[in-house]
Amino acid sequence: MIQSLAKRPMSIAKKEAMNDSSLGDMPAEDFRRYGHEIVDWIADYFEKIDELPVLAQIEPGDLKAHLPATPPEKGEPMEAILADVDRLIVPALTHWSHPSFFAYFATSTSAPGIFGEMLSAAFDVKSMLWRTSPASTELEEVALDWLRQMMGLDAGFSGLIYDTASVSSMHAIAAAREGVEMRIREEGMSGRKDLPLLRVYASDQAHSSIDKGIITLGLGQRSLRKIPSDSDFRMDPKALAAAIREDKANGILPFCVVATVGTTSTSSIDPVAAIAEISEQHKLWLHVDAAYAGPAAIVPELREILNGCDRADSLVLNPHKWLFTPFDLSVLYCRRMDLLRRAFALVPEYLRTPEQGKVRSGSDYGVQLGRRFRALKLWMIIRYFGREGLAARIREHCRLAQLFASWVEKSAEWEMMAPVPLALVCFRACPPLEDETEAVRAKRLDALNEAIMHGVNATGKAFLSHTKLNDKLTLRLSIGNIRTTERHVRRVWELLNEQLQSLI
Ligand code: PLP
Repeated sequence: MIQSLAKRPMSIAKKEAMNDSSLGDMPAEDFRRYGHEIVDWIADYFEKIDELPVLAQIEPGDLKAHLPATPPEKGEPMEAILADVDRLIVPALTHWSHPSFFAYFATSTSAPGIFGEMLSAAFDVKSMLWRTSPASTELEEVALDWLRQMMGLDAGFSGLIYDTASVSSMHAIAAAREGVEMRIREEGMSGRKDLPLLRVYASDQAHSSIDKGIITLGLGQRSLRKIPSDSDFRMDPKALAAAIREDKANGILPFCVVATVGTTSTSSIDPVAAIAEISEQHKLWLHVDAAYAGPAAIVPELREILNGCDRADSLVLNPHKWLFTPFDLSVLYCRRMDLLRRAFALVPEYLRTPEQGKVRSGSDYGVQLGRRFRALKLWMIIRYFGREGLAARIREHCRLAQLFASWVEKSAEWEMMAPVPLALVCFRACPPLEDETEAVRAKRLDALNEAIMHGVNATGKAFLSHTKLNDKLTLRLSIGNIRTTERHVRRVWELLNEQLQSLI
């Protein structure tokens, strides 16, 4: 039976320790006072965030120039520290929590997530062995199984939390490589004549984290073969099959395919079922990068975005992107935890415990020993909003994206650049520019769209980013913040049109 903290009497030793103010942590009374002040401050921040410029309106070096170059010799009062947060830090923030943050992938923290982070910072758990972190270890398993059920993923997947999708995917590829049975863990890859070139496949739209994972694992960039995508930016399965056949004929050893559900540039969705078919034929590990789009599968009518993913060996999604979870928290679902464990488990004497072998130890499944207690915030978020609440918010983001896309489609001066399967709109201005050759017009349109983007961002009222599609500079509007409403989307449309009119 776990005793509640509130019911425990304060010990004499604790009372004495509280009286010795020269050592130890901040006195409990001060902690309480400033804690309340900070929570009030955060509540005000969210209430008034609309009035702040989304993109930091400072120049490089501005903040550093206002901070002392040397550390304080004596401790400073919290009042002074908090005043500097207001005066110096806030103006140097690009406000990711702003409802008009539409750049990259718009993401969002949330109140229950913030509370989870606060408690996790207080517990300061190093989740490495079950013994050092029973709550973290077991809550991680429970919360990730809830998430798996909400997404309608097969029960054969077991989940693990890492910090980012980049790290999750790197671990998935490491597990895939372990499955090649070439004793790479023991003997490495360098200086071996018996090792052919190992090959990983991903589309030309795959995120750069796949390239980086491959670099980190020592496979070398030449191990990654980029497969062309179709006119809707989805991997071409025929091209994949041909590439695998060609590689095999040339003595290369294919071992892994990475499909993306929700690519970074356009949120396109690779045909995972067809890719799974090919992967199975050639006995290749299939990893799905659903870092951005994965959470959308919680919405029943969007569940189909994961069609075919039950045939994957691993899948990553980022609650810190589109599940209202403060950064960072990435989830890797894997069917072959045995291979992940074989690739990374290493238990020195000082970490041996009696329950070893009977319980899961997070450190057996990755490069990190200590891991943050991230499951707490996810568990609190799922409980606070419930599946319906999470689905309703994601569904609304998709509605707003469709609404914005409908304005683009109706306008003669703007054009859509990619389909909108979720809540990302790729578009650009295309006003008539006469008396130009096609090449000059293309250059002018790129420059015009870049100027529009910088113009909108400079107002501080919204923040957009860009990509290149078919060599054309394309604006991206991503909707994913819990505070974004139709009013914010209408406002950015007005801002874009104002900029366009001022530039032509
Ligand atoms: N995969 C995709 C499809 C992404 O869009 C991103 C980031 O935007 C990542 C992976 C990398 O995510 P993280 O920052 O969690 O490593």
